[in-house]
Amino acid sequence: MTFTRWEGRSVIVTGGTRGIGHGIAELFARQGAAVLLTGRDGEVARTVAGALARTTGGRVSGIGVDLKDPEAIEELAAEAVRLHGGIDVLCANAGIFPEKPLREMTAADVDEVLDVNLRGCILTVRACLPALERARHGRIVLTSSITGPTTGYPGWSHYGASKAGQLGFLRTAAVELAPHGITVNAVLPGNVRTEGLAGLGEEYLRSMAASIPLRRLGETVDIAHAVLFLASDEAAFITGQTLTVDGGQTLPESLDALGSPSP
Ligand code: NAP
Repeated sequence: MTFTRWEGRSVIVTGGTRGIGHGIAELFARQGAAVLLTGRDGEVARTVAGALARTTGGRVSGIGVDLKDPEAIEELAAEAVRLHGGIDVLCANAGIFPEKPLREMTAADVDEVLDVNLRGCILTVRACLPALERARHGRIVLTSSITGPTTGYPGWSHYGASKAGQLGFLRTAAVELAPHGITVNAVLPGNVRTEGLAGLGEEYLRSMAASIPLRRLGETVDIAHAVLFLASDEAAFITGQTLTVDGGQTLPESLDALGSPSP
């Protein structure tokens, strides 16, 4: 039995400059795929891509794309085609999670989160469609979250709405794109140790790790492996689905169910 050969496949990873996206870009590059990663600042994206190309020995490029800018998103798809001859996989991963209690939330706060996390995700998928159709085995993997689709956390109601919105989008997109051989799936990470999460403080990270049955935060590579599977030939018959990668975080019914720390 042979498994997916990634050499020659063209992969876009939005939000690849750090965190989960960086982990995804690194894994694809190690497998031999040609990766185009994004961040808002082109200089930063190119520097990160250069470093990844050196450490993985792979083909990695970077481009500046603000997901609030539809023209920049179109340019991203065009650049992937120019550089790598097409698009086989789109990992729509970039996202923001600013904390804001509902009572203090302004219209601008809501717009910011929905524009980047939901509208940006939808527009990125749309921009990549012609190239994904030409690939005839196009794969779209969204990075959603347990927050919104499965759980709630005070301060992140707009974020939860954006992440649940991604799943509403993916189910219809999966049906619409199936005739073109394109699959659309999502990973739902639990708490993953990233630069973005580090900003929430040590105490938050400690209490989060304690609430996870596997007793640790996720690492970016944990999410990257799930993305790689959903993007592979082996996942050809899976579409419109979600894969939770959370160390069991969403399972315990109560603190008692979580039990005592390690025996
Ligand atoms: P992160 O470390 O803060 O990285 C976010 C990435 O998104 C960066 O590459 C950033 O690039 C990019 N980005 C931010 N705003 C952007 C914009 N307006 N336009 C384009 N790119 C933008 O975040 P992360 O923790 O890796 O999270 C990545 C994804 O996983 C997000 O969708 C998040 O919702 C989801 N997630 C994370 C966790 C977790 O525990 N970390 C859990 C569940 C879901 P630049 O800063 O270089 O522009």
